[in-house]
Amino acid sequence: MNSAEIRQKFLDFFASKQHQIVPSAPIVVKDDPTLMFINSGMAPFKDYFLGNKPAPYKRIADTQKCLRVSGKHNDLEEVGYDTYHHTMFEMLGNWSFGDYFKKEALEWSWELLTEVYKLPKDRLYVSVFQGDASENLEMDQDAFNIWKTMIAEDRILMGNKKDNFWEMGDTGPCGPCSEIHVDLRTDEERVQVDGKSLVNNDHPQVVEIWNNVFMEFNRLADGSLVKLPAQHVDTGMGFERLCMAIQGKRSNYDTDVFQPLIQFVAKEAGVVYGENEKTDIAIRVISDHIRAIAFTIADGQLPSNNKAGYVIRRILRRAVRYGFTFLDFKKPFLYKLAAVLADQMETVFPELKQQLSFVQRVIEEEENAFLRTLENGLKRLDALEAKFKENNNTIDGKTAFELYDTFGFPLDLTALIAREKSLTVDEAGFGVEMEQQKNRSRNASASEQSDWVIVQPDVTTEFVGYDCNVSDSHIVRYRQVKTKTKSEYHIVLDRTPFYAESGGQVGDTGYLVSDSEQIEVLDTKKENDLILHIAAKLPQNIEAAFRSEIDFERRNYIRKNHSATHLLHAALRKVLGEHVQQKGSLVNEKVLRFDFSHFAKVEDAQIREIEHIVNERVRQSIPLEEQRNVPIAQAKEMGATALFGEKYGEYVRVIAFDREHSVELCGGTHVYNTGEIGYFKIVSESSVAAGVRRIEAVTAKIAEDFVQAQLDELHAVREVLNTQSNVSGAVQKLQDDNKALQKQLEQFELKQLSGLKDTLAQKVHQLNGVNLVAEQVEVSNADHLKKLAFDMRQVVDNLILVLAAEIDGKPQIAVMLSDNLVAEKNMNASQMVRELAKEIKGGGGGQPFYATAGGKDSSGLQAVPGKAVELVKSIING
Ligand code: ATP
Ligand code: MG
Repeated sequence: MNSAEIRQKFLDFFASKQHQIVPSAPIVVKDDPTLMFINSGMAPFKDYFLGNKPAPYKRIADTQKCLRVSGKHNDLEEVGYDTYHHTMFEMLGNWSFGDYFKKEALEWSWELLTEVYKLPKDRLYVSVFQGDASENLEMDQDAFNIWKTMIAEDRILMGNKKDNFWEMGDTGPCGPCSEIHVDLRTDEERVQVDGKSLVNNDHPQVVEIWNNVFMEFNRLADGSLVKLPAQHVDTGMGFERLCMAIQGKRSNYDTDVFQPLIQFVAKEAGVVYGENEKTDIAIRVISDHIRAIAFTIADGQLPSNNKAGYVIRRILRRAVRYGFTFLDFKKPFLYKLAAVLADQMETVFPELKQQLSFVQRVIEEEENAFLRTLENGLKRLDALEAKFKENNNTIDGKTAFELYDTFGFPLDLTALIAREKSLTVDEAGFGVEMEQQKNRSRNASASEQSDWVIVQPDVTTEFVGYDCNVSDSHIVRYRQVKTKTKSEYHIVLDRTPFYAESGGQVGDTGYLVSDSEQIEVLDTKKENDLILHIAAKLPQNIEAAFRSEIDFERRNYIRKNHSATHLLHAALRKVLGEHVQQKGSLVNEKVLRFDFSHFAKVEDAQIREIEHIVNERVRQSIPLEEQRNVPIAQAKEMGATALFGEKYGEYVRVIAFDREHSVELCGGTHVYNTGEIGYFKIVSESSVAAGVRRIEAVTAKIAEDFVQAQLDELHAVREVLNTQSNVSGAVQKLQDDNKALQKQLEQFELKQLSGLKDTLAQKVHQLNGVNLVAEQVEVSNADHLKKLAFDMRQVVDNLILVLAAEIDGKPQIAVMLSDNLVAEKNMNASQMVRELAKEIKGGGGGQPFYATAGGKDSSGLQAVPGKAVELVKSIING
C-alpha cells in the first residue's frame, strides 16, 4: 500500500463512521498566544474542547500538518538521529466532541489497524493509564476492560503519567490516553527480546503509532485539574510511522513518504544513502527539515528574527549546516528540494505547488545569507586561532557562544571545526553563557496568567461591531496577566462592539461604562475565538450592566484604511499581475501597510497607476457589499481568493466593492462607501524579504496632510529660489553654477598650494646634513596637505618635513621623510608623528616615510614646529 492509499483509507474509514472530513488547518497559528505552530491534530479544535465555542460537527476526522520544534512538544534534537521523529509530520486524527467515548474510539482504532491495514495482531501492544496518586487520578479501568475484549491481556501495558496522560501544553485540555505501539523487529529479534519490555523505551523499531486521548480535564494555571463540561475523544496517529508499519520498513525514511527526498539529496551530494551513518544523518535531517521549512513558508510564515519566523530560520540553518558540514554543499541546495516535495504532496497539500516559485525564492535567499554568515564565522575562528592556541588549545566559552549567537554556529559545529584544528571547546563555559542568555530573555518576557474567573458560565460572546459602535454588555469572565513591568486584565463580554486585532487590523480601544465607573479598554485582542478586552484595572462591580463603546473616531480611520487596502490589493493585481499574493498587512488609524509577493521593485510609473486606479474607485463612491455566512464555495465563485495560511470556516464573510473589482474574504471593518476614503496616497515602496514587497499608504485627512506637507516644502523651496515656475530648472542651474565655482576654487587653491611649496622650500633648516622643514600652514583639506608633502619630497633632498594645519576645525599633522633617511638612518615618520601628536591631544600613524595624525586640541598646533626641531635634533644626536 503506498502512502497516498494509506492516508485515503484512514479518511474513508472514519467517513464511513459518520465523521466529517475536514482539511488540515494551516501549520502556523494565529490568534493564540500560547501556541506558535500546530503541534497536534487537536490544536485547531482547542476551542471546542474548552467549551469556548460549539463544535460544528460531533465527529471529525482529518490529516493535520503538525510541527514539533518548540514549546512543550519539541523533537528537534532527535530528528535525523532517530528514524521516527520529525519536525513536520502529518497526524491522522478522529474526534468526538461530546459524542462517542472510549468504547467506539478503541474498537475503531483496532478495526482499522488490524482489518483494514491488516497489521499483525502479534506485533501490536496497547497501553492504559495506571493512575497517579499525586494527581488523585485512578487507573483507567474502562479502557482496560475494552481492550481485554480485543487483545490478549499480557499485551495491555500499564503506563505512567508521562506516557499515558496527554496534555497539550502547561494549561488546557488533557486526559488519560491509551497508546498503540507496533513492534517492527525481525522474527529472530522478537524471539530474543520480548517486545513488551521495549515499549516506550526509545527502541527505533518498537514505536508508538497511535494515541487515543480521552479529554476529561482542563489543567489550570495553578496546576489543578477540573472536569471539562463534556467528554471528548481526541486521537492522533503519526502518518509516517503508520506507513513504516504497513510497508514493513525499519525507518520512516525508508517509506515512499521520504524516499524521493532522500534520493534527491543523496544524488545532489554524490553519496549513497545507507552507506555511512554521518552522511545518512545529514540526509535525513535535510529531507525532514525541508518539509517544515517549505510548508510553513507556504502557510505564510517568512523566516525572520523573532518568534515563529525565527524558529523557521533556525530549522533552515540547521539543514544548511548539516549539508555544509557533512555533504559538502557549499551553495544553496534546499530550495531545489522544495520542488520534489511540492510534486509529491500536490494532491494532499496543494498550497506548496501553487506557490512553489515564491517559496523557493525565499528559501534560496535565506540559504545564501546563512552561507555567507557561516563563511564569516569560519573566518572569525581562523582569525582567533592563535589566541586559542595560547589559551591551552581551547576555544573559550564566550567565543563559542558568540559564534552560536551571532553566526548561527551550534556548539557541535564549533566542536567539529575545533577538532580539525586540534583544539577543544570549553563546553561548560558555553553552557554558562547560554544559561545567562536564557535567563535574560526569560526575565524580559516572563508573564504570569491567572486562571479565568467565570462570572457567567457557558456564555459565548456576540460580536456586534459590524453594526454598532456601542452595546449593552456584561462581563462573562476575566483574568489577570502580570509581567515584570505591568499588570493588566483580560475581560470577556457577552456582547461587544470591540473588534479584536486580526487579519492585520488593529484592535479597538474605548470604554466600558457603568452607572458608577468608567474603565478604559486599552486594546482588544483575540485568543482563538475569545475576544479579550485589555484594561489596566477591573471594575469595582464586576456584575454591573455596562455600556461598551469603542473610540469611534479612531475606528473610522481604521475602516477607511482597511477598505483602501482592498482597493490597493485589486489595483496591484491589475497593474503588476495575478501573481500578486497578499503576504501580510497592517491596518491602523494612521497608515496601511500591505506586503505582497512580487519579484521586482514597483516602478514609479506603476505606483502612479496604482494610486490612480484606487482614487478612481474612491471617486466612483462604490457602496460596500457585505455578506455574512456565505458558504465558502459560493464565496470563491464570487471571485474571492482565499489567502494561504489563513484558517477559514465553512461559512465566511465576503467584502466586495464592485464585484468586478474587489472581492475578498475578510472579517475586518469597512466603509459603507468607497467615497468615505476621500483620498489615497502611497508614501513608500520597499522590499521586506526575498520576493516580498511592501507598500505603505495613507488615506483621508492623513493623505491630505501628507500632500500638503509636500506642497509646503515645495513652496518653501520656491521662496528660497525666488521663483514661481520651473523650480527644478532653477535648482539644476544652481547646481551647475556650484560645480563651476567648485572647479574654479580648486584651481585657485592648487595654485596657492604651489606657491606655498615654494615658500616652504626656502625655509629649510640644515641639521647635520638633514634638511628640516617644520611649519604651520593653511590648507583647505587633507588631500591638499598630502599633496603638499609629496610635492615637497620632489624638490628637497634629505627632507624631514613636518606640517601642522587646522582642517575643518580639527588639528592635523603630517610627517614626510626622504626614502634614504628611512633606509639609511632608520628614521620613522609614524613614530615621529605619534610623538608630535601629543601636542594636539591626538594620535595617528602610517608608513615609515609618510604618516599623519589628527587631534582634539588646535591650540597646540603652533607648538608643533618647535617641538619638531627638538625631536629631530634628539633623533640625530641620538
Ligand atoms: P513519542 O513518545 O514517540 O514522541 P508522543 O507521545 O509525543 O510520541 P503524541 O503526542 O501522543 O506522541 O502524538 C500522537 C502520534 O503522533 C504518536 O503516536 C506518533 O505516531 C506521532 N508523532 C508524535 N510525535 C511525532 C514526531 N515528532 N514525528 C512523527 N510522528 C510523531
Ligand atoms: Mg513525543
